[in-house]
Amino acid sequence: MIREPLIFEISEEGKKAFTFPKPDVPDNDGIEQNVRLRKEIHGFPKVAEIEVVRHFTRLSKTNYCVDEGIYPLGSCTMKYNPKINEVVAGLAEFRNSHPLSPVSTVQGNLEALFTTEQLLAEITGMDAVSLQPSAGAQGEMVGIMLVKACLEDRGEKRTTVLIPDSAHGTNPSSAHLCGFKVREIKSNQFGTVDIDSLTEAMSEDVAALMVTNPNTLGIFEWDIKKIADIVHSKGGFVYMDGANMNALVGRCRPGDMGVDVIHLNLHKTFSTPHGGGGPGAGPVGVSRTLEPYLPVPLIRKVDGAFRLDEDRPKSIGRVRGFYGNFLVILKALAYILTHGPKGLREIADIAVLNSNYIRKSLEGLYHLKYASPSMHECVFSDALQKKHGISNLDIAKRLIDYDVHPPTMSFPLIVPGALMIEPTETESRRDLDFFIEAMTAIAREAEENPNLLKQAPHHTYVRRLDETAAARQPILKWTNGDRT
Ligand SMILES: *Cc1c(COP(=O)(O)O)cnc(C)c1O
Repeated sequence: MIREPLIFEISEEGKKAFTFPKPDVPDNDGIEQNVRLRKEIHGFPKVAEIEVVRHFTRLSKTNYCVDEGIYPLGSCTMKYNPKINEVVAGLAEFRNSHPLSPVSTVQGNLEALFTTEQLLAEITGMDAVSLQPSAGAQGEMVGIMLVKACLEDRGEKRTTVLIPDSAHGTNPSSAHLCGFKVREIKSNQFGTVDIDSLTEAMSEDVAALMVTNPNTLGIFEWDIKKIADIVHSKGGFVYMDGANMNALVGRCRPGDMGVDVIHLNLHKTFSTPHGGGGPGAGPVGVSRTLEPYLPVPLIRKVDGAFRLDEDRPKSIGRVRGFYGNFLVILKALAYILTHGPKGLREIADIAVLNSNYIRKSLEGLYHLKYASPSMHECVFSDALQKKHGISNLDIAKRLIDYDVHPPTMSFPLIVPGALMIEPTETESRRDLDFFIEAMTAIAREAEENPNLLKQAPHHTYVRRLDETAAARQPILKWTNGDRT
């Protein structure tokens, strides 16, 4: 494997990636000025165009992406993103419109946003939607802020939010950031919320239950209606983390299950690219009771024209600049419209089928702590491989040698040594089998040749890193062939 130097290391005095004829006008403000080398950055690399292109092309080939193969990261819904979404978001009329344009000049943009809100409200069964939050975690926080605003409005002082032990780590963080105490609810032996523990914990001090459905074990909360009734009976709200909507879309609606507030991850269920830090979108849907508190502005249609409604006295205010990540929302809209109701239903059907196919195919080779049927993902553990001294990390690293992106590891926390696999509906039977064959081979290697796994990956640019040190003290420079 060729080592790729840093672009700074291939820099040579006098090189640059552009040439322009000398301007025939005074150069005070000219091209050379505008594209001049960045002198203020010490050591700014001086390279030719071809060197820039080759450097980044070679680096990109050491990466792995969903356009290359299965990306089974549990809880992340790394589905393939149809290219038509990009075409739509790339239309000049959308791309070039300025967020501060007068409303009368961007009626089409507002219609696209308004339509997306309405479609998401229909899909989730909620009464109103705000597209503003930029990520799932921000959607969660906004959702809890809405609950808090409503309670304050009613003069109720509730201090606690209940969260099952299978929850995503962002749930307790969101509740905490909004000033609530978090109380954990145990899962039962089926991997769902334990009704007795919930009943016991539910009181008039509880503002909300934050429940993920299907939960992070990939199991549907069959008792969701009963759970909602218990919470409502003491005046609490039901917050549903809808990041796992891929298992439900077109099939059932959280609003019909008694959910009061939900966030969605457009960058999961609705196929906008993610990974590498965004951008994403985490719209929030609410019932009538919480609608007055939604962030401003809301898009309204009045006499056939769209306008931005800022006059909402109970609103929690703005939660981000402008109206959300517009181009991300457009991609989701393109995705929803190209699928239509029947296509959306098929997403959930096939996502669930694919994850059950993987679960059944690997059952026996890998340990399953919870044997309930899977929704969109299944959670194995390394318990069987532990006997040979092999951990989930060794398995994940070895998968890289088989040209497969590893699944999510060590989450949810209630499954020690977890391997959380979410294939999504976009994988073909052939690609699922490719993954299953790799996992099967690794299970055999764990018994026959554990050392092979312990030193994996063998075919990558870098091998086993000290991940803690890499995160805390990153070393990004090579000198004389050694990392320094
Ligand atoms: C991904 C995810 C989140 C957080 O979403 P971000 O967009 O990454 O902030 C929250 N809850 C669950 C269950 C998730 O899978």
